[in-house]
Amino acid sequence: MEASFVRPVKILDRIGLLIIGAAAALFYLYMDTSLRGIQPSSLLTVAVIVFISACTQILVHSVHTSNRKLQEANQTLERKVRERTAELRSSEMKYRTIFENTGAATIIVEEDMRISLANSRFLTMSGYRPRELLQRKTWLEFIDDASRRRIEELGTIGEAGLAALFGRQFSCQFCGRDQNIRDVLVTLAPIPESRGGVATFADVTELKEAERRISFQAFHDSLTRLPNRALFLEHLAMAIKRGKRKADYRFAVIYLDIDRFKLVNDSLGHSAGDELLIAFAERIRSGLRETDVLARLGGDEFVVLLEDLDCPEAAQEIAERLQASLREPFVLRGREVFAAASFGMLLETAGYEQPDAIIRDADAAMYHAKERGRGRIQLFDRGLHEKARLQLQQETDLRKAIDRSQFCNVYQPIVRLKCGSIVGFEALVRWHHPERGTIPPSQFITTAEETGLILPLTRLIVEQACRDARDWYRRPETGAELSVSVNISSRHFLQPGLLDEVLETLAEAELPATLLRLEITESAFLEDSEEAVRLAQRLRDHGIRIAIDDFGTGYSSLGYLQRLPIDILKIDRSFISRLHLASGDNRNIVEAIISLAHKLNLTVVAEGIETPEQHRILLDFGCDFGQGYYYSPPVAAKEVLSLVCASGLLDDEPPRPLAVASAG
Ligand code: C2E
Ligand code: CA
Ligand code: CA
Repeated sequence: MEASFVRPVKILDRIGLLIIGAAAALFYLYMDTSLRGIQPSSLLTVAVIVFISACTQILVHSVHTSNRKLQEANQTLERKVRERTAELRSSEMKYRTIFENTGAATIIVEEDMRISLANSRFLTMSGYRPRELLQRKTWLEFIDDASRRRIEELGTIGEAGLAALFGRQFSCQFCGRDQNIRDVLVTLAPIPESRGGVATFADVTELKEAERRISFQAFHDSLTRLPNRALFLEHLAMAIKRGKRKADYRFAVIYLDIDRFKLVNDSLGHSAGDELLIAFAERIRSGLRETDVLARLGGDEFVVLLEDLDCPEAAQEIAERLQASLREPFVLRGREVFAAASFGMLLETAGYEQPDAIIRDADAAMYHAKERGRGRIQLFDRGLHEKARLQLQQETDLRKAIDRSQFCNVYQPIVRLKCGSIVGFEALVRWHHPERGTIPPSQFITTAEETGLILPLTRLIVEQACRDARDWYRRPETGAELSVSVNISSRHFLQPGLLDEVLETLAEAELPATLLRLEITESAFLEDSEEAVRLAQRLRDHGIRIAIDDFGTGYSSLGYLQRLPIDILKIDRSFISRLHLASGDNRNIVEAIISLAHKLNLTVVAEGIETPEQHRILLDFGCDFGQGYYYSPPVAAKEVLSLVCASGLLDDEPPRPLAVASAG
């Protein structure tokens, strides 16, 4: 700033002062000369005045110079202050902008955890106004209890308070004034040269939600929303561990399978089936305690874990209560549907190490419950385990046997009752086990059916039967066209592809389709009748004949035979074995069956004829064909032709046993 006294001095600048000094000296000289004449002292005085004037000039000049410098320095300083202020302002703006727009709720936290500054996101999330929040609340007040305890412990263990939390991240739940819970990830960072820090709260609610959904899907069944097998196995594993720690801890497992669920699916449709599964799950769930775990293993199979039981009877009681609850019908789309279930129970769980083994054994018990009739509870015991083990062993053996072609067909003749001539053979399978010798079908067909091995096995049997029949076909020594009958399990009958397979085999063997007969039991038509009827019809369209095997042992409704596209009825041997009995009931039934079958244009074959008496009675009833030890046991393929030749010789005589060496 310019000082006021400097201005006149400036005006009297250097030359000005000199001129004034010189003028004053000249004026003095003039006055002095005019008064006193020229005196040397006057000249001296003039010189002094000029000198003083010069000195003043120099002095003024130097004052002026330093003044200017001062002024310049002043201006520089002022400029610097202005610049610095602007810089600071912009820097503050910058940090404020960053603080506001971190993308997360952010606060400045003081050493005592109090909030001293909060961005608007935090204010919104917390639901508080700045004056209610700043310096009044700590940030810990906004997070869930468990996380708070964890964080407080960390803070105190380290004795460094807030500083102990720096550089860490905490996954917490944030609860603001509106009580809305949000998942947040809290990160704390120190502010240099201060005791406080910055805390950011990243909202990860959606992420966590997605995570929860994914893990729910991985561990739950989407239809019933029950735990799935994976989660159930975890619960079981924990129960096993608990059982090892606490001697008095007991748990039990029930394996449930809805009886005849397929019927609902097939008759009412899959979405009704789904509705039933949901309602079933709901009903079972409501019969359990909070602590029990119900899971769906897939299809119509469920499993229950009963935890912390006082005694084994308690589990039994629960199972009975559940069974009772299933006696009430379910209402599906206005229709009442009954869904009983078979239960397999495992009470002695103490010795188990593996959750899988528990499920396996409960499943084995359930399987036996089903075998004993539906809607039952079966307890697992070691015997069942042994049986299951043997079955598993047999499955393995059977698989190997199929690969190694250890099966072979024997053939039992079917004879015309009137003359005893052989019209065809029934192929009956035998397993030639390298150690156990010849095993009859009764000992392995069920296992083959249950394991699905019946499909490759039947393929082998049909192939061999067709090849053998081809060998007999139009042989000069027989002259006859011998048919071959093959047994097809009901379960197999409904497998897609059976028709194509059979046709292919016939083509490969070059056997006319009319010589092949498929024997199936009535049950094939009961389970899924529409489809079975269509399939039988298509087989017949190709010339293959269909026989109903074991007639009289199953659901045997003579009326419904009418609807079936079949050619032959085989009366079960249980009727034949009772033919000789005095009571006429059995005879009347057999007679009625034969006469009705004829009315329906069916050919009748009587099975298991062992005596001439049985033969005679059946002949009297008009039965067409017979099969049984009376004529011949099953024989090996190579014996077939000699048997046929022998029977041909009998054409005109009353039939009598043909017996050749038995093949099985
Ligand atoms: P099935 O179809 O009723 O076959 C007749 C069974 O009765 C045969 O027993 C046969 O040896 C036996 N048998 C024949 N005549 C008499 C008799 O006069 N008295 C008595 N008591 N029994 C007689 P096998 O060969 O042990 O077969 C038993 C069952 O195993 C068959 O009953 C059939 O259901 C099944 N089976 C046999 N072979 C096959 C096959 O290749 N595939 C399928 N799926 N099942 C087969
Ligand atoms: Ca048969
Ligand atoms: Ca039979």
